[in-house]
Amino acid sequence: MSGNRSIYEQVILEHNKKPRNFRSIENPDRKVEGYNPLCGDHFTIYLKMDDDVIEDISFEGSGCAISKSSASIMTALLKGKTREEASELFNKLHHMVMSDPESELDEGDLGHLMAFAGIRNYPMRVKCATLAWHTMLNALEGEADSVSTE
Ligand code: ZN
Repeated sequence: MSGNRSIYEQVILEHNKKPRNFRSIENPDRKVEGYNPLCGDHFTIYLKMDDDVIEDISFEGSGCAISKSSASIMTALLKGKTREEASELFNKLHHMVMSDPESELDEGDLGHLMAFAGIRNYPMRVKCATLAWHTMLNALEGEADSVSTE
């Protein structure tokens, strides 16, 4: 576990330094802002949909390394996924970061999202790790133009 942890930390640092899909989308189907006042993370998520499939997804904004790398990994994972697959992935991530730090981790198909496993030891950072996801889900549902974690 401790050996893996440093690999996962590298994943976060790398995505923070070189975020994927860090741009706007012209004429997006949805554009939603997410804000985490606890940390000051503030992102805009852009979505281009093809029926139920996420054709393109991108983000802009600024935040701590955890929130930014989480947004970056999310956009890389979700391109080509359906609405349902996207919310399933979020549920898995959410379950992991909210789980008991002593409990066994189930890697399942979380892939690079495993980078956030360590967050369960830091409840204050859960909102950093999930901000982009909450914002993306809101964009998919088309309910609001901005999301706050408060
Ligand atoms: Zn943060």
